[in-house]
Amino acid sequence: MDILVSGAGIAGPALAHCLHAHGHRVTVVERAPAPRPGGWAVDFRGRVHLGVLERTGLLPLLRPHATRTGDLAVVDAAGRRVATMPAAVFSGDLEILRGDLSRVLIDATRGHTRYTFGIRISSLAQDPSGVDVTFDDGSTGRFDLVVGADGLRSAVRRLAFGDDPGVLRPLGLHGCVFTVPGSLSLPDGALYTEPGRSVTVASPHGRDGVVQLFFTHSQQVYRRERATVAAAFQGAGWRVAELLDAMAATEDWWFDEATQVVLDRWSSGRVVLLGDAAHAAGPGGNGTGLAVVGAYVLASELARSTPSALPAALERYEAVMRPYAATCQRQAAGGAAFLAPATARQIAQRDRFFRMMGGLPPLRRLFSWMATRTATAVRLPDYEWPGSHVVA
Ligand SMILES: Cc1cc2nc3c(=O)[nH]c(=O)nc-3n(C[C@H](O)[C@H](O)[C@H](O)COP(=O)(O)OP(=O)(O)OC[C@H]3O[C@@H](n4cnc5c(N)ncnc54)[C@H](O)[C@@H]3O)c2cc1C
Repeated sequence: MDILVSGAGIAGPALAHCLHAHGHRVTVVERAPAPRPGGWAVDFRGRVHLGVLERTGLLPLLRPHATRTGDLAVVDAAGRRVATMPAAVFSGDLEILRGDLSRVLIDATRGHTRYTFGIRISSLAQDPSGVDVTFDDGSTGRFDLVVGADGLRSAVRRLAFGDDPGVLRPLGLHGCVFTVPGSLSLPDGALYTEPGRSVTVASPHGRDGVVQLFFTHSQQVYRRERATVAAAFQGAGWRVAELLDAMAATEDWWFDEATQVVLDRWSSGRVVLLGDAAHAAGPGGNGTGLAVVGAYVLASELARSTPSALPAALERYEAVMRPYAATCQRQAAGGAAFLAPATARQIAQRDRFFRMMGGLPPLRRLFSWMATRTATAVRLPDYEWPGSHVVA
C-alpha cells in the first residue's frame, strides 16, 4: 500500500520502519522544518517494550545512545540531599534522550521512506478505495491509508474526527524541557520541589545538561512561550534563577500542558491515529513505549489483512492497544500529585515514601516492579515479523 504518515516524532518513524518491513511504501510529512531535537530522556521498560524493539531490529540501533540518569538526589533549597528518587521512576530498562530517539528512528528509515519537513496536511477526502490529500504547500496526493502520528494536538485527528475539545483532558500540570550547556556543571541527577512547582536536572554522561520543569495551575490558559515558564518559577530557590537565565538562550525548548487524549474511536475509514494523537497519557504514562508498540501492532495487523479489509485491521489494532493505553493513562493521571505536590506537607510525604522505597533492596525491587507493571499490561498476538527486513 501507499501509506501517508503525518508526524516525524517517535510514532511516525517507528511506523515507517515497521511498514517498510512489511513491504509498504511510506511517505512521512512533518510540520517542523527539520527533525525536532530536545526533550527529556524517555524510556522503554519491561518485556513488551524490549520484545518489540528486539523483534523489529531497533534495539541494537538504540543501545549505543542509551543514557542512565540513575537515582535522582531530592535536594532542598541549599542543594542538600534529603531523599533519593529511585532510578526506576524515570530510567526503565533502556533510557534514551527523546531527541536522540527521534533522530535515530528517522535516520534508520530515510533510506526507504520519503520524508518531507516543513509541510502539513490541510485536507483529507476519502472514498472506499483511497484518500485524497492536500498539503499546505498546494501539492496533492492519493494514498491507501493516512496515519495521524502527529502528537497531542493532532491535525489528522481534527480533520478526520472534527474539532471536539472534549477529547483533550488536561491533567493540571505544565511541563517544560530544555538543554543547558555542560559548563553549568549540574549534578548528575537532582530534583528540587516547592509547592506546585518542581525542577529536575540531569547530565547524561558527556552531554549537555537537561532541565525539566513542572508547575501546576488551576484553570488558567497559558501562552506557550518562555516568559510563561519564567513567571511560573519566579522567586523559586535552589539553582532555578540560573536555569531560567540559561533557558532564555536555549534552542531546543519544549513546553506543553500534560494532557490525555480520550477518543471513542481511533480510525475512521482509511484514516487511523497512532501514539499521542490517539491516546496521549501524560508524564509517567509510557507514551514512548506505547507509540512504538502501537506502530508494531498497527503494521502487523495491516500485514495480516488485505487492502480491501482495511477497516477490520484498524479495528483489531485498536482492540489490542486500547486497554493497554487506558491502563497507562490511569497510571499517569496521578502525575501532578507526584511531580509537583501542592503543599509542603505533601512534598514531605512524597520524600518519605522515596526514602522508604529506595532504602532496602527488597523494597527497591518492589518499587521497580510497580514502575514496570503498566508497561507490561498487554499480551500481544504472535505476529509474524518478516525475516528479510533491512535496517538501513
Ligand atoms: C520536541 C518534543 C519534545 C518532547 N519532550 C518530551 C519529554 O521531555 N517528556 C515526555 O514525556 N514527552 C515528551 N514529548 C512527547 C513524547 O515524544 C510523546 O509523548 C511520545 O513519545 C509519543 O510520541 P508521538 O510520536 O506520538 O508524539 P510526538 O513525539 O509529540 O511527535 C509528534 C510529531 O508530529 C509533529 N506534528 C504536529 N502537528 C503536525 C502536523 N499538523 N503536521 C505534521 N506534523 C505534525 C510534531 O512536530 C512532532 O514531531 C515531546 C514531544 C516533542 C515533539
